[in-house]
Amino acid sequence: MQLTCSFCGRSKGEVGLLISGIDAHICEDCIEQGNEIILSEGVGKKGKKKNSKQLNLKNPKDIKALLDEYVIGQDTAKKTLSVAVYNHYKRLNYDAGQDGVELEKSNVMLIGETGTGKTLLAKTLARSLQVPFCIADATVLTEAGYVGEDVESIISRLYQSADYDKEATERGIIYIDEIDKIARKSDNPSITRDVSGEGVQQGLLKILEGTVANVAPQGGRKHPDQKMVQIDTSNILFICGGAFDGIEKIVSRRMQANSLGFKSGDTEDFTPEQYLEYAIPADVKQFGLIPEIIGRIPILTALKPLDAKTLKAILLKPKNALIRQYITLFEMEDVKLNISDKVIDYIVDKAVEFKLGARGLRSVCEAILSDYMYEAPSDNETKEVNIGMDEAEKVIERLRLKAA
Ligand code: ADP
Repeated sequence: MQLTCSFCGRSKGEVGLLISGIDAHICEDCIEQGNEIILSEGVGKKGKKKNSKQLNLKNPKDIKALLDEYVIGQDTAKKTLSVAVYNHYKRLNYDAGQDGVELEKSNVMLIGETGTGKTLLAKTLARSLQVPFCIADATVLTEAGYVGEDVESIISRLYQSADYDKEATERGIIYIDEIDKIARKSDNPSITRDVSGEGVQQGLLKILEGTVANVAPQGGRKHPDQKMVQIDTSNILFICGGAFDGIEKIVSRRMQANSLGFKSGDTEDFTPEQYLEYAIPADVKQFGLIPEIIGRIPILTALKPLDAKTLKAILLKPKNALIRQYITLFEMEDVKLNISDKVIDYIVDKAVEFKLGARGLRSVCEAILSDYMYEAPSDNETKEVNIGMDEAEKVIERLRLKAA
């Protein structure tokens, strides 16, 4: 009987090598192709398991270098995060033994305006460390029993992004966005029950400190008769972020009241952003987070607002810079996209004007390019799109109306 490859159907004579299994055969071309598929999917199952057990520990400088590839500026935040993450994973590999020193977890708080790169930092970290990662928005969380997502749902999401690998989940990173929005609305905690504020903080506190969370195996809502997976959160790293609007006033008041050690005039010319760099956990407490939460997020670092020079670099420099992304999108339609230098500066100016940090860059680019992206796929004639000032200015009026 003529042996054939069970995958491509070619006969033994047509292929180089044919390997036989119990009742099937595979040729070397199909093996190669299969291997490529595995590689293109990131890591195979075996690879994943291995990564989850022994994390290849990069040192803080290596971690920062990885962040540098995607995140522009924000050096202080990058250094702080790199050290925190390094220590976190060092702690995981450390066995305190009986009398050893107990190493505490180093959850991190990122303070900075919207669009300054908080989420991007957390996401890039998780990607470069190859650990599961998810983003949770603190504003949609409610106390268990209320309508909305309860706090444990965050762990469930991490479990899903870990492909339902319990062990990997327990070493993942969770970014909790808008943590400032669950601050206590009033200084008096007993006025009313505050569904979105203190109750949620208490719930969060549990998972931050380390608890065993019951997670629905396939995510989604919990059913009474569903078998739960138990995830221990003690080694999950939490990075929390928020804009903390107005916290600079708290910082400045504290610094002025406490001006011993400051020469008078030292802080006089401070801009609000400069005060932000001096924020300490006590200021966050004053802002309305409960002390226990602050105690569990001991590392605090501020992100700087992005100036025009940084925004321009963000547009052009990172590996996945916006302009590179658009060029690639057009290339996929066999169209060459040219954007003039003037337009690049114009995009940056408009993003500054709309005060949305780097997010503004994206909305301005979308506005300018959306008509072209609409036309390109159905138009076989166009081989080149040139965006000059005329094209750019035409659409910005429309955007200005939207932003107003
Ligand atoms: P935040 O979480 O602070 O509100 P994000 O991290 O979501 O902001 O940033 C929004 C977008 O802006 C990201 O997708 C990213 O492309 C871009 N961005 C923001 N800050 C930076 C930065 N420092 N370097 C590179 N890109 C940035």
